[in-house]
Amino acid sequence: MSELDLEVRYLKGVGEARAKALGKLGIVRLGDLLEHFPRGYEDRTSFCPISAAPENEPVCVRALAASEPRLSNVRRGMQLVKLRAVDDSGSVDITWFNQVYIKDRIHAGESYIFYGRLSGPPRCRTMTNPDFEPESQEGARTGRILPRYALTAGVSNRVMMNCVRAALDRAGDGVPDALPTAVQAEYGLCQARFAYENIHFPADTGMLDLARKRLIFEELYVLQCALGRLRAGRRSRSGTPIPPADPEEFYAALPFSPTPAQRRAVAEALADMAGQTPMNRLVQGDVGSGKTLVAAACIWAVCRAGRQAAFMAPTEILAEQHLATLRGFLEPFSLRVERLTGSMGAKEKRETKAALAAGEAGVAVGTHALLTGDVAFSDLALAVTDEQHRFGVQQRGALSAKAGDAPHVLVMSATPIPRTLALMIYGELDVSVIDELPPGRQKVGTFLVDSSYRARLNGFIEKLAAEGRQVFVVCPMVEENEETEPEAQPRLKSAEEHAAALQKSFPKLRVGCVHGKMKPKEKEAVMAEVVAGELDILVSTTVIEVGVDVPNAALMVVENAERFGLSQLHQLRGRVGRGSHKSWCILVSDSKSPDSLARLKVLCATSDGFRISEEDLRLRGPGDFFGARQHGLPEMHIAGLGGDMELLREAQEAARNTLARDPSLSAPEHALLAQRLRRLFEENLNTIN
Ligand code: ADP
Ligand code: MG
Repeated sequence: MSELDLEVRYLKGVGEARAKALGKLGIVRLGDLLEHFPRGYEDRTSFCPISAAPENEPVCVRALAASEPRLSNVRRGMQLVKLRAVDDSGSVDITWFNQVYIKDRIHAGESYIFYGRLSGPPRCRTMTNPDFEPESQEGARTGRILPRYALTAGVSNRVMMNCVRAALDRAGDGVPDALPTAVQAEYGLCQARFAYENIHFPADTGMLDLARKRLIFEELYVLQCALGRLRAGRRSRSGTPIPPADPEEFYAALPFSPTPAQRRAVAEALADMAGQTPMNRLVQGDVGSGKTLVAAACIWAVCRAGRQAAFMAPTEILAEQHLATLRGFLEPFSLRVERLTGSMGAKEKRETKAALAAGEAGVAVGTHALLTGDVAFSDLALAVTDEQHRFGVQQRGALSAKAGDAPHVLVMSATPIPRTLALMIYGELDVSVIDELPPGRQKVGTFLVDSSYRARLNGFIEKLAAEGRQVFVVCPMVEENEETEPEAQPRLKSAEEHAAALQKSFPKLRVGCVHGKMKPKEKEAVMAEVVAGELDILVSTTVIEVGVDVPNAALMVVENAERFGLSQLHQLRGRVGRGSHKSWCILVSDSKSPDSLARLKVLCATSDGFRISEEDLRLRGPGDFFGARQHGLPEMHIAGLGGDMELLREAQEAARNTLARDPSLSAPEHALLAQRLRRLFEENLNTIN
């Protein structure tokens, strides 16, 4: 056991109460403190003479208190502390609002470092609410790069800094290093101890870059090793070929003609299944591109060969929708499609299970209820998972485990990701891309507006509702521990508050709300109301991102749109425009950042999911593709903060080499690595969401 396994409450300066507060941030042990990476930094290293300091840019000035601080009561509830400070170049008048204690912290004739923004011409400079420390203590709060942490009540940034500092000191040189030394040497990476020190308390930006690079690399490397191990496990099983079938026979019974892209994907999948190695294919295509049809064709081929197929969806509602669709596609061939979800009655469940075990039913459509231990198939040959990013890597595996030989696996994702990235994330999955929509689809008109459009937007909502259409409104997830800096950021709207406000604006409309804190059952109940047309407006956090089909929905409003990744916004937009009505997506953002606005404009300009994700990759790096847990991969702590494709490529190459030399990771120099992989898999047993 290393020092890092020690619980934080044993740390100097951390009592029961503080330990509890830290626990809310998921920090229990010293090691968790080290992994609580700053969410940003404040560079306080730049010093300026008072008269030469640039206006309104944060800088440090070294100055002498020319007078005792003066306290004045402007009016009730407003007290000012005023001070004049001087250096060789000039003087500055400093004001603090409502921080009376400062009066006793500063003494005339002593030297301090003030950190803040100066304004006014060189001859009469002023400063408001600067942070400061005596010159003798320089380096604690000024003259350095200060980490900024995600916080919670009872833990200020200063407290967090002290805790991390104490944890680092306590650990000393005993920071375990999971990255083999050979890999460190080959890719020029720093050691773990150095990396943790400098990710929290960087000596300068160069050190910070080194630390960040190492930690991102490590995280990606561990993940690539994990995927490599999974893959190796899969490959060692032999498959059972499905005799080739002519899909035209299947197409002939469809009410429409498949698109060329669908035909291509079906042909690829059928060819896979005819081979000796089990199929392992990802079908990627925008929402509405018709991925279900590809799955149906595969299921048809499997059943035709007298075998069974299972289709797993992430929610009950989706399972229901797929059940209806698949029955429609497969009925002409007299195939029996059964449902298996958590909410079914015990009797019905028992019967379905019996039918599957006896091989009387060829196809099961369901939720993760399909994964429970007592579900058995007589001859499962194909496992399909839809919107597979909702399932953890392990769960995908669990379904396959229900077959004797390795079944063919088809996974479907509506999150288009660039091919280069797909190859790394999905490893040896073969990828089929459906890059065209069935003919006759209308584009979703997409517009970017700021809050000044609120009244017009409300009018639009009212008009659509009057026409009988439904409206989705999405707000970003607001986390409890989120530091909201009122000036720096536009205020975030929480789904519940916003729903209440909308209900007030539209007393006659039926407004519902779904958010992340609700139980899955509660969420599903509200979603069922939406599907049944019993709600006019649904306000939600991103939980509706999953592919529920509501053809009557004609408007998607995204609040604080700048908070979402482009691909995520594209997903959200895909929730509307699924019926015959003209549909719209309105992105609301008060962001002033040119980068954010440029990103959002990409979305207004194109509806091609692949182009959008390429753009996302170019603008934000690959981190987001991991960070948002879009692919059922473990949550990344640091890779989500940035990183580039080159680093990802290197990490993959390194992992491949490591596994080539030591496939079971049993060499002593890989002991820590092997331990990390085990932890990764354990944590991910519960990633269903
Ligand atoms: P997704 O790729 O989002 O899962 P679906 O499989 O749900 O898309 O298909 C969306 C809709 O398009 C369904 O109603 C489906 O019946 C229909 N559809 C699929 N393929 C075609 C096609 N080739 N021509 C016309 N409609 C199609
Ligand atoms: Mg779908």
